[in-house]
This record gives sequence, C-alpha cells and structure tokens, in this order.
Amino acid sequence: MEDRCNEQISPAGPLAGKVALVTGAGRGIGRAVARRLSGDGALVLVNYNGSRERALEVVEEIRSAGGQGEALGCDVSDYEACGRLVEDVIARYGHVDILVNNAGITRDNLILRMSEEEYDRVLDVNLKGAFNTIRHLSRFFLKQRSGKIINVSSVSGIMGNPGQANYAASKAGLIGLTKSVARELAGKGICANAVAPGYVETEMTQALTDKAKDALKQMIPMNRMGKAENVADLVAFLAGSGSDYITGQVICVDGGMCM
Ligand code: NAD
Repeated sequence: MEDRCNEQISPAGPLAGKVALVTGAGRGIGRAVARRLSGDGALVLVNYNGSRERALEVVEEIRSAGGQGEALGCDVSDYEACGRLVEDVIARYGHVDILVNNAGITRDNLILRMSEEEYDRVLDVNLKGAFNTIRHLSRFFLKQRSGKIINVSSVSGIMGNPGQANYAASKAGLIGLTKSVARELAGKGICANAVAPGYVETEMTQALTDKAKDALKQMIPMNRMGKAENVADLVAFLAGSGSDYITGQVICVDGGMCM
C-alpha cells in the first residue's frame, strides 16, 4: 500500500468521479482494464502482487494520459491483507465504486499429475481472491447503495479444458460466486457480473506452442486470439451506467468460441 500517484487532474468521461480497484493490473488484461477505466475517467487503483515496477509503469501510463492512479501491493489470496487494502483505500478516497477481480494464475497439469499445491494455489488466487475483495468491499458498497463487481472468469470455467482441472474449477466457481453475490446485492443497487474471455494474447498464453495456438484458433469461429483491449471494452461497459439493469450474467468475449 504505497506508491501514491499524486497528479490530481480531474478527467472527464462516463466514469469521472468513480474509484476503481483492479486486481492483478500490472500487465495483460488487468493492465488494459486499468488503462481503459482510467480513459473513461475513473481513478484507478492498480493492484499488484509480484512486480511493483510493472504496476508503476501502468500508473505512469495512466498519468501520462492525464488520468489518476495508484499502485497498491496486495496478494489477493490473503484475506487479512485484502481487508487492510480496502480499509486503507476507503480511508483515503472515501469510496470504491468498481471492483474488477482480474488477478489469476495457471498451474496446468493433467489430473493424474496435478499436485495438491497446484490445485490449492490456483483456487486460492483465482476464486478465494475474489471472495476476499468482495467480502471486504461489499460492506461499503451496501452503505453507498451502489457498486459494480466484475469478475474475470474464463471459457475454461464454462467448457472445461484438459490440463486445467484446477483453473477451470476456479473459473466455474467464480461464476457461482458472481451469481450468488448478484442475487444477494441486486436490491441494493449493486451489480455483479462475470466476463469470460476465450484465448487472449497475454503473457499467460504466451507459453503456448505455435501448434497449440493453431489448434486453438480452429476452435474459434473468428479464427484468431483476442486482445486484452477486447476484454477491457466489455469490463468498461459493465463498470458504467449502461449496464445498470444487468446483473448475475456471464458474458463471453471469445470470438464466438463458446456459443
Ligand atoms: P497475466 O498472467 O498476464 O496477468 C495476471 C495478473 O495477476 C499478473 O499481473 C499477476 O501478477 C497477477 N496476480 C497473480 N497472482 C496474484 C495475487 N495473488 N494477487 C494479486 N495479483 C496477482 O494473465 P492475463 O492473461 O492478463 O489474465 C488476467 C485474467 O484473465 C486472469 O484471471 C485469467 O485467468 C483471465 N483469463 C485470461 C485468458 C487469456 O487467454 N489470457 C483467458 C481467460 C481468462
């Protein structure tokens, strides 16, 4: 909880005056989401766990474009640390309006070889991480009677994927979490939705061989991988007032892969 960015320009845009917390925003989809929400006028809290430098680069990009942001370190799988993060942010900004649970990891392995550690760590970050932030922030969303929760799931959580029993379970779990939270909070002005990206060009998918990428493209009607910005566009829509009557939904952004 440091690295305050203190350029206080007031940007215009549909999210002006809003504060957005994006987890795992130092790179990939999270980075694109942070930049996009900032472009729409939100003050963006760029959460990171591993690389503080990468998160600071994102904050710098936001600042250079005239926006406001801050890098905040926190391992989302740590319940107490998430509580401290939320308390700190509320103490300083008074409110958080948009929560994007984007932080995620893979530890792929076939079920016969998957270790307990591989299973547990993926569930802890991808699923419990979202529970942790929602659990701590929902109190404030309820007080302000507004809030947008956007959980980054995956088509793997809908379709399953060989070698990803842990990951697919975490992403399917996120869908159940999203729908339950949506039902609990719908009457209080709070929306909770999930986005389910297909295969997106990021460091997470960079490790795939060309052969695997070609095989994947065969499964995508649009015949190409997506870009982080495609996911960010959908998240920005769900974060804005255009989605005020949408809750409990899972929206795929996958070139038609999962239809
Ligand atoms: P990425 O690996 O580039 O980014 C993930 C980010 O999460 C990193 O910045 C990482 O540091 C952060 N992170 C990891 N563990 C963390 C923790 N404990 N606390 C806080 N931050 C943590 O991956 P990406 O492709 O940008 O993926 C972003 C999200 O989108 C993930 O939830 C991923 O499962 C999901 N997703 C990605 C794809 C894809 O094809 N890339 C497809 C479907 C879903």
